[in-house]
Amino acid sequence: MFRKLIAVLTAAAIALFCGCSSAESRGEKLQIVTTIFPAYDFARQIFGDKADITLLLKPGTESHSYDPSAQDIVKIDKCDLFIYNGGESDAWVENVLKSANKVNSLKMMNFVEAIEEEKLVGTEDESHEEHDHDEGEEEYDEHIWTSPKNAALIVDGIKSEAIRLDTSNRDIYKKNADDYSAKINDLDKRFGELLAGESRYFVFGDRFPLLYFFKEYGLNYYAAFPGCGAETEPSAQIIAFLTDKLKDDDTVKTVFYIELSNHKLADTLANENGLQTAEFHTCHNITADDFQAGESYVSLMERNFQTLENTLKKGT
Ligand SMILES: [Zn+2]
Repeated sequence: MFRKLIAVLTAAAIALFCGCSSAESRGEKLQIVTTIFPAYDFARQIFGDKADITLLLKPGTESHSYDPSAQDIVKIDKCDLFIYNGGESDAWVENVLKSANKVNSLKMMNFVEAIEEEKLVGTEDESHEEHDHDEGEEEYDEHIWTSPKNAALIVDGIKSEAIRLDTSNRDIYKKNADDYSAKINDLDKRFGELLAGESRYFVFGDRFPLLYFFKEYGLNYYAAFPGCGAETEPSAQIIAFLTDKLKDDDTVKTVFYIELSNHKLADTLANENGLQTAEFHTCHNITADDFQAGESYVSLMERNFQTLENTLKKGT
């Protein structure tokens, strides 16, 4: 909290002393700052070498424990475009934007239809039905990019902003964005074909920031933790519930975990049932090695496609 306060004060000080000019007029590359990996990747694909792009959430670090440093705030304040996701874990962004010097920002959640968070199945209730909320209490799931259709909409939104920001390179941005969207749409089509009619439940011995992907393709799931909160100690009740479900005919006989997880629970569930585990990459964050290797949203989703294809083909 104290760090956040310092950061906000720093931003306010910069706002007072810095008269910023556009990259174009400075004859430099555009400076783009992004919060999470999908934002970084989409911007990188569209702007190519026309921009320097910063990813604030360092590869390999926990997505929800990010706190901006004073240096990060300076970068946001000085940049030509700041791309963030919106939602609960970006609550800090609103404060920074309020105190900074008219930052040109783009919120990814503005381009898609948000879905309400779902309650954990297997504890108080076993229904996927919508839950009652008091007026004004809706909490939206923020992991919008996990649906390729949403990813394509976001790419389109960033494309429009790129063209507005730097009209002289409009043809490049249009081509880059349209090429990337075509790859995403191709993945979407293949996922649709692969998963059509799949009625079994997928079991996640892990957190579950994949609601949009699962809704998109009409899939069922059971997970140890909803969304991707900090909670990582499952209750005995949920362990018993998932163990039991893995014995049923209506579950896929692989236990899934997500990237950067210790997959301890998935391993335990798999061992107890004599099953395998597999990673489902949510593209939320990326390991340092994958980042170094230049992996992208499309290549990570392709990895998921292969995983699902292998898993479902085996009929296990
Ligand atoms: Zn998350």
